Amino acid sequence: MRLNRAIVATVVLSLVASSLASDAGVAAPARKAAKARHKAPATCEPRSFRIILDVGHTSESQGATGARNDVEFGFNLNLAKLIGERLKSAGFAATRVLVTEGKARISLLRRVAAADRLHADFFLSIHHDSVPDKLLEEWEFDGSRSFFSDRFSGHSLFVSERNPRFRASLAFARLLGRELKGRGLQYATQYTMPVMGRYRRQLLDKDVGVYRYDGLVVLSQTRSAAVLLEAGSIINRDEEMAMNSPERRELIATAVTAAMGEYCERR
Ligand SMILES: [Zn+2]
Repeated sequence: MRLNRAIVATVVLSLVASSLASDAGVAAPARKAAKARHKAPATCEPRSFRIILDVGHTSESQGATGARNDVEFGFNLNLAKLIGERLKSAGFAATRVLVTEGKARISLLRRVAAADRLHADFFLSIHHDSVPDKLLEEWEFDGSRSFFSDRFSGHSLFVSERNPRFRASLAFARLLGRELKGRGLQYATQYTMPVMGRYRRQLLDKDVGVYRYDGLVVLSQTRSAAVLLEAGSIINRDEEMAMNSPERRELIATAVTAAMGEYCERR
């Protein structure tokens, strides 16, 4: 996630979204019907539980750049595809991998619209992390000037209190955090640190690394429960290599699948 851009986009698009909603002129009964359609089922039947795996960023606007100059979009796509395969194998047959086109800002609203259109029961956005620009250090990789920061590493989970299903979102984020921790991974702790400046976040679960990020469009505007996973840091030179490995992708996909199974059982 390119946080600096995401913040601006969040503010702008929240405004656009709310003005679109109020100007749409949708008749009250139609709105009611739409709302009813999106009511979560009383129980979770894996076969029909519609999970949207949102691939962070687009081919046009590819997110963060890793220490070895690979782009975040590629990491997100590879991981989301594998998670999708594992979820389907576990019986979550209605899982969809969502790839969005276009520039960063407009793509955020497109994701929300797609989740809505597909009647999502759960929205999981897949990203890979970087650091604020001021923390970047220079090195040479493959003959070209490149940037890295080995200072921080780890995954993190974000939820928005503005999401209508905040409690459910938080519950899943905790389950996934537990699964990742149980597999030996440590979450990224830097989001509470002063060095993060305006990117600082409130830590909602200090055991497994769930942060609160209220304004993020894909979390706050979606009607279904929604969680954003920063799977790991691609600006950290060691972790970037790990994130590129089939083993790490498998570990994360297995963790997501286990967490979704538990989440579903508890509903
Ligand atoms: Zn991202």
